[in-house]
Amino acid sequence: MQITLNIHRKDPATNGEKPTFQAYQVEVEEDATVLDALLQVRDQQDPTLAFRGACQSGYCGECAMHINGKGRFACLQSVQGIVKKDEVKVEPIRNIPVLKDLVYDMETFLFRKIKNLRPGVRPAAAPAGMYELDDAQLAPLRNAMTCHMCGLCDEGCTVIVVDKDFMGPAALTKAYRHVFDPRDADTEARMAQVNGAKGIWDCTHCYEANSHCPLGIEPTDRIFDLRDLAFRRGITNNPRVERHHLSFIESVKETGHLNEAKLAMDTEGVTNVRGLISLMPTAVRAFRRGKLPNPLTHKKRPGAEKIKRIFEKVEGKK
Ligand code: SF4
Repeated sequence: MQITLNIHRKDPATNGEKPTFQAYQVEVEEDATVLDALLQVRDQQDPTLAFRGACQSGYCGECAMHINGKGRFACLQSVQGIVKKDEVKVEPIRNIPVLKDLVYDMETFLFRKIKNLRPGVRPAAAPAGMYELDDAQLAPLRNAMTCHMCGLCDEGCTVIVVDKDFMGPAALTKAYRHVFDPRDADTEARMAQVNGAKGIWDCTHCYEANSHCPLGIEPTDRIFDLRDLAFRRGITNNPRVERHHLSFIESVKETGHLNEAKLAMDTEGVTNVRGLISLMPTAVRAFRRGKLPNPLTHKKRPGAEKIKRIFEKVEGKK
């Protein structure tokens, strides 16, 4: 099969920061993968082409790249299954600093975040035998433990696009793996960390991370597991999150639906005119997009009393 590989090229040493695309004609077998095609280009046409790909079996996650517009492992993606009009376009994954061609800076993108979360089980000093867990104890972790740290979930993350410092689904999946490991004795410190700035509460639950993970680890759900645990332990070190949830509950309980303007003010702890002024830039942006809620027009919805009774029942008041 004859195809054109359109490959992202960038070499800070020769063409500065500006990326270009270079087309290569290759003849590949019917069952060739995109990584096979890239290897062929590097071996037979252009030894300067840079990309990563170690195991060639879908284990190492190193060959994660954008292939015809979607994040995939090049070693698992067949050319035949992706080629369009005899062409395959190959780019680095999004949101990531590129060092050369298809080689990107995983340290800046992901590894530094994982290091900050102190990977590695930290057991308490304990009697011999504490490591003998049965299968049921480790079962919830097994999926997360298979994470290749390929970064494809971070590539799909809609928060990292606007805030590169958000811990992101890959690092938070690593945090989950340690927090829920019964052998780990560092739960307090780990939870304090993910519960703080740039952590679990910045996730917008768009579920993009789940759909980008090629291993079915469902990183968005792992973030929710961490959030549930934070709730069960009481949200003690993030007053902003606490205010947000209390306001949410109060609003739905009292009026049957969400008072979005009050939620924004309560979350930010607005209690005076200066606080109101600090919210003005956000309010102006919301107004321009026709999304500025008016707290004065927020009224009880029909059935609000029934909703309130449900809350009271749950709270054990009636
Ligand atoms: S959770 Fe999935 S997509 Fe994210 S780094 Fe791990 S293997 Fe890759």
